[in-house]
Amino acid sequence: MISDWIDISTPIAAGMQHWPGDPDVTVTRFAEIGRGHDYNATSFSMSAHTGTHVDAPLHFIAGARSIDEMPVTQLIGAVRVVLAAGAEKLQLERGERVLIKNGAADGISSSLAAHLAAACPPCLGIDALTMGSADVHQALLGAGVWIIEGLRLEHIEPGRYEMVCLPLRIVGADGAPARALLRRVG
Ligand SMILES: [Zn+2]
Repeated sequence: MISDWIDISTPIAAGMQHWPGDPDVTVTRFAEIGRGHDYNATSFSMSAHTGTHVDAPLHFIAGARSIDEMPVTQLIGAVRVVLAAGAEKLQLERGERVLIKNGAADGISSSLAAHLAAACPPCLGIDALTMGSADVHQALLGAGVWIIEGLRLEHIEPGRYEMVCLPLRIVGADGAPARALLRRVG
């Protein structure tokens, strides 16, 4: 059966792009069939903010909730994919999640963040490595909007979808890598 789910997460690999100052990604086969082991096994090391990942409120707000405290329903359900251009005019329905396509490398403006934070969607995603400045993060995270960064939306048309996005349950962490899937609605 052909799945209608579309993977919108960035593949994790050694040497992949990351935020300046974050550690490099390593992926190491530490046990290997053919090198005396009965099995293959891999370890990896990366920033919680590399590739497709979710920012917890704790990322920019001291003492706020960490990624393991996120209600999973924040990132599962109806979502609208919109173009960055024109997002200021967006009128959100209650509970509607939003993904921003063609986001600038430095994210969204403070005024757009304030507009979106006022509507308080369960989550806001973007296909850039960052949602924006510290002000942008604080406005959204402070309003209870969980942030998804590093999405792959180049093959996704604007429109209405269903999303499943699940960050790893890392205790006390300010973010975590996530697998994200979309399915067209209607
Ligand atoms: Zn992040």
